[in-house]
Amino acid sequence: METRVIAKKKFGQNFLKDSTVLSKIIQSMPNNNNHIVEIGPGLGDLTEKLVKYKDTTAYEVDTDLIGVLKSKFAIEIENKRFELIHTDVLKAWDEKGSLHEESYDLIANLPYYIATNIILRAFEDSNCENIIVMIQREVAQKFTAQVNDKEYSSLSIITQIVSKEARILIDVPPESFDPPPKVTSSVLFISKKDNVTLDKDFLKFLKVSFSQPRKKLFKNLTAIYKKEFLSNIYSELNIEETLRPHEVDVSLYSQLYTKVKNGKQ
Ligand code: SAM
Repeated sequence: METRVIAKKKFGQNFLKDSTVLSKIIQSMPNNNNHIVEIGPGLGDLTEKLVKYKDTTAYEVDTDLIGVLKSKFAIEIENKRFELIHTDVLKAWDEKGSLHEESYDLIANLPYYIATNIILRAFEDSNCENIIVMIQREVAQKFTAQVNDKEYSSLSIITQIVSKEARILIDVPPESFDPPPKVTSSVLFISKKDNVTLDKDFLKFLKVSFSQPRKKLFKNLTAIYKKEFLSNIYSELNIEETLRPHEVDVSLYSQLYTKVKNGKQ
């Protein structure tokens, strides 16, 4: 590394050093007037490019990086093109509800240990319109999977509910980072629908549905519903009890959920 900052594993620090990948992220930014929020600016390589295009707010938890970032972006901070917030981003969401008071796009090379959590929080944050994030490829595939894909999971269903579009832009090898992570990464692009709220009970229902992904969905649901009750609903919807969780599409999950929610056990 060309700086004296030692990357910290506990904060998921793998600094992106590949200029081609950095440029691809910038090129994929939506053409709108939204503010940019970056989570984990690190040493500021991506931030440097972001602030050239749009006003940016970045949330960084690591005290050791704050000084580096403050001096690197002294001019942008001074002229208010860049705001640096020293905190754990999940705490910021808990306290403020939204990471920015107006429409924003989230662009980041995320710390992998909390990447899924961050994307789910961004789904709930109504000011967040687009998400372009580097995450572990295996996890990105879960967000973009379609029914019958082996990666299809509750994350795929939630993504289909909240998004207009969700796709992987590029895969990124470990060598593009310093230090290199153990896994391949992907840049995930998600464009959110307007005003979609996620029903917390539906999310719990999906969690139970996929609790044992290889077992039958019917079997998983018997953990919280009586067999006879479920059998009746399955026959009303004319579906087979042999279906596995990954064989059920979003619309059928919604119908099943509506039936169990409204039915009496
Ligand atoms: N953006 C930089 C880059 O692309 O090189 C760094 C990315 S590194 C994968 C993840 C960054 O997220 C680190 O700077 C790390 O300190 C920061 N981070 C980790 N946990 C965080 C949290 N809870 N809140 C805010 N930032 C966090």
